[in-house]
Amino acid sequence: TTSVSSSRIQKFELEEDNELRFVVSGREEVTLELINGSAEVFGSVVEKNKKYIFPPGARVAVFTWKKATVELIGTANAYVSPETPMIMYINLHAALEQLRRIADNPTEKDRVGQGPRIMLVGPTDVGKSTLSRILCNYAVRQNRSPIFVDLDVGQNSISAPGTIGAIHINRPADVVDGFERTKPIVYNYGSLQPGDNNALYEKLLITLSQAVSAKTVENVETGISGVIINTCGWIADGGYAAIVQAAQHFEVDIVAVLDQERLYNELQKTLPKFVKIVHLPKSGGVEVRSSEVRLKSRNMAVQRYFYGTRGEQYFPHQFDVPFDEVTVVKVGTESVPEECLPVGMKPEDYSAKVVPFPISPELRHHVLALSPFDSLTQEISTTPVFGFVVVKEVDMIEKKMTVLCPRNELPYPRIFVYTKIEFLDDHNVP
Ligand code: ADP
Repeated sequence: TTSVSSSRIQKFELEEDNELRFVVSGREEVTLELINGSAEVFGSVVEKNKKYIFPPGARVAVFTWKKATVELIGTANAYVSPETPMIMYINLHAALEQLRRIADNPTEKDRVGQGPRIMLVGPTDVGKSTLSRILCNYAVRQNRSPIFVDLDVGQNSISAPGTIGAIHINRPADVVDGFERTKPIVYNYGSLQPGDNNALYEKLLITLSQAVSAKTVENVETGISGVIINTCGWIADGGYAAIVQAAQHFEVDIVAVLDQERLYNELQKTLPKFVKIVHLPKSGGVEVRSSEVRLKSRNMAVQRYFYGTRGEQYFPHQFDVPFDEVTVVKVGTESVPEECLPVGMKPEDYSAKVVPFPISPELRHHVLALSPFDSLTQEISTTPVFGFVVVKEVDMIEKKMTVLCPRNELPYPRIFVYTKIEFLDDHNVP
């Protein structure tokens, strides 16, 4: 072939239940095209003769239930695997669909109107996010509209790192960009590990679970479709407690444990009997990420929040904000040790306490959340945020800071909530 001289073209023939796994390993994009047969990417149908363009770093699996001829153009590390857990994943989907039918059937008393609530747990890098995406996709492809909840503060797939949130899924994920993120409910936690402030994390879990329950009651279809919950890969010590808390607050009825049998056994002992616990293997295609790769994918998530994707570009703006037009606050402070308190006085709960945060050059490169409140109130800690800005500069002489904002105006009120998340923005923005 002479058409694309500098790029490599690779062609693959997939048999039934095979998957083509590839990593966009160079600095250039890679184009995927289905030439013949049928295929899907993480549960989204791949259209024949359409060119899907993946950015550098993307890791993709193209699976076929039947047969497919697939072409890749560009620098990609690729191989075909005949072994995948997809049959088990679709069986899990079938079980969820069965529960939705029961919820939809007025003759069944106990589950009327409320479909399955499933939570996916396991260590990092076992494909939890991917399986959530597959299950959401299969659900919408059967005309369901579930709620997807992401409790992973390290690698959140709904909003910026350091958040937990929920979205309503009513169309399949884009093959390249994933689910649309319109009208998400997002709570700012502000750091990457639930253990940094476990009490705050649990407060946010509770608040989010109430918001989600309200949605499942508001809309019949949503209620029947149920809730699919992705969790953090932190499973030791406090992480285990956080999984159990999430199961309680979201009142889950199925927990799918990926990969780790020990976790499966532990949960069987801890969770109440009515919670069904299933154990599933991880896919051999899931990459084990180094901390650098993890950092890179977090940066890409923030980058995506501000700049969008190739398919849907955003154009953020930069603003100079005088110090006296903004208040920066922080959620959670060190508590006073009990022995330092007067006798008989109980230590106050400092985990969600909202306190002023002094503006200083330390804020440079930090992501800040935009609170909807116009004055300093304790509710800031547990109310969904509008969105985020990134601090690009702090000028202590001129007493102003420069922030990157997704929109062309910086909304009032300007109460910014501190987060530990940093993002080095290397774009020049007007
Ligand atoms: P977790 O949520 O458990 O940390 P992810 O679902 O995010 O894991 O998966 C980690 C990475 O592996 C992602 O980049 C994802 O695209 C990739 N991946 C998942 N499943 C496959 C597969 N079958 N083949 C190739 N890559 C995969």
